[in-house]
Amino acid sequence: MKLLLKILLSFILILFIIIIISIRSVDYTPYFLTSYYKTTIDSLKECEDRLAVLPKRAEKGGFQAGFSKISITPGWGVPLAGYADRNGLPNHGVHDSLFASTLAIKSGSQEVLLVGIDALIVPRKLAEAVMAVVGPKTGLKRHQILFGATHTHSGPGAWQKGWLAQKFAGNYDDTTFQFLTRQISQSIIEAYENLSSAKIGFFSINLPEYTQNRLVKAKGTIDPEFSFGLVQFAALNQVVWGSYSAHATTLSGENMRYAGDYPGYWVRRIEMQPTRKAFFMAGGVGSHSPKGIGQNFERSRYIGEATADSVLKYVDAVQFDDLWPVFSIGIKVNLPEPHIRISNHWRLAPWLARKIVFENDTWLQLVRIGKTLIIGAPADFSGEIAAQLKDYAHRLGYRLVVTSFNGSYIGYIVPSKYYHLNEYESRLMSFFGPTIGDYFPDLMRRMIDLAILYG
Ligand SMILES: [Zn+2]
Repeated sequence: MKLLLKILLSFILILFIIIIISIRSVDYTPYFLTSYYKTTIDSLKECEDRLAVLPKRAEKGGFQAGFSKISITPGWGVPLAGYADRNGLPNHGVHDSLFASTLAIKSGSQEVLLVGIDALIVPRKLAEAVMAVVGPKTGLKRHQILFGATHTHSGPGAWQKGWLAQKFAGNYDDTTFQFLTRQISQSIIEAYENLSSAKIGFFSINLPEYTQNRLVKAKGTIDPEFSFGLVQFAALNQVVWGSYSAHATTLSGENMRYAGDYPGYWVRRIEMQPTRKAFFMAGGVGSHSPKGIGQNFERSRYIGEATADSVLKYVDAVQFDDLWPVFSIGIKVNLPEPHIRISNHWRLAPWLARKIVFENDTWLQLVRIGKTLIIGAPADFSGEIAAQLKDYAHRLGYRLVVTSFNGSYIGYIVPSKYYHLNEYESRLMSFFGPTIGDYFPDLMRRMIDLAILYG
């Protein structure tokens, strides 16, 4: 009996030690009282210093643009990225070719580039590898290149090591990583080298028919805005850039062929006119799922072509903007400790959580083109928050587009009021604690304020 008691006590003691070592309570410290907030705000001050030396309006030059589109469709044997239930198995071929598209924009001495990739996300290591190629060749800095992904869940995988990436994108394969790096870099370099005289205008239409709030359904709001930009070259060629807040998840994990999902159909519909090219970046797709008729590719086609037809109705009505100023700012954002939760109020200790989520910091970016602001978020960024930020910018007289997957990825950013919902986005994929849904909008509003001070 005594022996049994001893064993039981030892077991309880060991369990207690394990809990002490590996479990922490959720940290509710307000973000604005923390050191990570302070250091991030300091980075914003550096942006302010840079903007202060921008050329004055009197020094503006002509406006130029360049475009390039390069295939990034991998070959046989490479897994798809998007769903864990594919178990990292290799693709079964190609339904749609996948592309990296770059729109380079130059106004006076300032250059910014929008890079849209037919992929689930733009992993940080891939963005860094691309910068290591294009930086020395072009002199471009990281803040000048705004990456975005269509968020197709049937895109190339094998791009990152680590448990989480392996779950969603299969085993890392260096050949595929190098291939993607090469193709994306080539697209950027070509667009940059092909600059020629052009005009650009932005427009948006509300299309609530094709997106829905999947997190809280009708209790929540949606961002229904389909934003697009039209570039008109002197040679009558056009480029249309589009962004919409609906997950590219019309295809399930059962699809094993590379496909662009509904953004692929959107692009192909816009490109039916031979003198027109198009590319797409996911908007604030967090909490937003696609809504449409049909199953699988039928539904991809329905949403892609219906949204394209709506955009095409207005393309000829786009007013070309006054294209000054053009600039971009980017900041390193320091993050709270990772929160991998095991219940509402308890999480794994940071040393354990870091085995799944490595990030201590991430990247946030804003591009300004005249009266249009484009923010790149490092996440599946909440469409609900995006809609609020757009209202904020509109009240100040500016158009705002919020895109996700900017070349860094920290999971989902959902409004703080949803943090305790036991759902995929808010529990499993929200990695940085209960205040991240306030922290990022705060930084974004500060970036908007900063951007509109100039010009
Ligand atoms: Zn997503």
